[in-house]
Amino acid sequence: MLEVMELTKRYGKTLAADGVGFTVPDGRIGILLGPNGAGKSTVIKSIAGLLRYKGSIRIQGHDSRSLEAKRCFAYVPEMPYMYDALTVREHMEFIVRAYGVEVTEEEIRGLLEQFELEDKQDKLGNELSKGMMQKVSICCALIIRPSVILLDEPMVGLDPAAIKELKEVILQLKARGTTVLISTHMLEMVKELWDVTFVMDKGRILGTYTREALGDEDLEELFFSVTGQSGKNREGEMPVVGQKGV
Ligand code: ATP
Repeated sequence: MLEVMELTKRYGKTLAADGVGFTVPDGRIGILLGPNGAGKSTVIKSIAGLLRYKGSIRIQGHDSRSLEAKRCFAYVPEMPYMYDALTVREHMEFIVRAYGVEVTEEEIRGLLEQFELEDKQDKLGNELSKGMMQKVSICCALIIRPSVILLDEPMVGLDPAAIKELKEVILQLKARGTTVLISTHMLEMVKELWDVTFVMDKGRILGTYTREALGDEDLEELFFSVTGQSGKNREGEMPVVGQKGV
């Protein structure tokens, strides 16, 4: 389970996250949905421990800054970062050693094959395209078998085959009980994935919607109707359901 409570983050005068709170229950896919500049990456980076913030974040019941929490979650950043001197395979081996997890050669090969990186495994980080780097980043996150995974705009830069593969992987993760949080502004990409959506704009969560409670209502229409309010909170007018029934 991932719990974010009263998360507040300022960059100078910009209030990028303003008392953000939400929960993604065990084995569910949560979507942080909002337009450019809404504060999604700020929330994800805070959860990942890359920013100082006010508030409280718990991962599987542990404070997100604790070693116990860090051991069980993985983070795929919006901009993949590669070490120039390591090959694709060495990136995965490095992560495996850093986390001290037991991983078989078969598992490494399986992931490389799944993301069509078998023929790239000996390439150095600086020899890869952005999409390939994104795939390596996803493989490195998956190889530690996280209980909670954060994906910041994961589809950006991927080709259609990789997007399809990633969606399948996300659904497999869910089937295994992994808790997933995806940030995106691309509704189309998450339509078949989401269990609970947190609509965010101007640093605030404007509404929390579960698929169960929303029924046939169009998520896209809801998104524009909520964010079209220029930051005014319409919680009272929308079918806000919190975590009930998730
Ligand atoms: P996008 O979809 O465009 O990636 P986002 O929803 O992820 O946007 P953030 O990147 O979290 O939004 O930015 C939220 C606000 O904080 C924006 O107004 C942005 O300009 C500001 N911001 C983000 N990072 C910094 C920073 N390092 N310094 C100053 N302001 C920042």
